[in-house]
Amino acid sequence: MEKDADKTLTLSDLEERLKFFRDIGADFIFKSEPSSASGGLEEAASDLQTIHAEILRCRKCSLAAERTQSVPGEGNFRAELMFVGEGPGHDEDVQGRPFVGRAGQLLTKIIQAMKFERTEVFITNIVKCRPPNNRVPHRDEVETCSPYLVEQIKNIRPKVIVTLGKSATDFFVPDSTGGMTAIRGRFYDWRGVPVMPTFHPSYLIRNEGNMGIKRMVWDDMRMVMARLGKK
Ligand code: URA
Repeated sequence: MEKDADKTLTLSDLEERLKFFRDIGADFIFKSEPSSASGGLEEAASDLQTIHAEILRCRKCSLAAERTQSVPGEGNFRAELMFVGEGPGHDEDVQGRPFVGRAGQLLTKIIQAMKFERTEVFITNIVKCRPPNNRVPHRDEVETCSPYLVEQIKNIRPKVIVTLGKSATDFFVPDSTGGMTAIRGRFYDWRGVPVMPTFHPSYLIRNEGNMGIKRMVWDDMRMVMARLGKK
């Protein structure tokens, strides 16, 4: 993250650059086209850093009162693959990072089984602050917080979003009926982005001996891999 921040031009960088152009006698400057050269990474990084700074100081809903800190999300700002969970738990609230507890360790294993590194994908949640006692986020909390998620998606432009569990899935597939077993296993369209719902890693942990659930998650992830050209 810091690395990308370094790429942002400061005023003194700009003055230095202009001086350089003057010194070499250039009386014109071509406007750079970062979107073709770097896929717009610099702009996306700068916008995402602004959004994340806003999330860190956000007090728009009552979840702010009980959090230790908010958890914007982390990963590659140009990730092809994005994971969206429900909300930070205790470990995430303490560390300020998403999916770092037991469920997070399992998510990391799933990501690696998909032949990605954790740093290659982007991981975040529907709500950025821990709901007290890990309760399900309320509808008004999701409504207040979700514009941050929408901005993250707009900037990262993932090719696929995986939703982990029902709360995250309900945001992207609001009209779905039935439980995860009925909803999972196929892509849904959200503003042009394919969304694959699957079980939350905590649910896998709670049902550790259930091979059927593991198989379903793996089948879902294989569909995602195929969509992203991973073999
Ligand atoms: N569960 C979630 O949904 N998100 C986290 O970040 C951690 C656990």
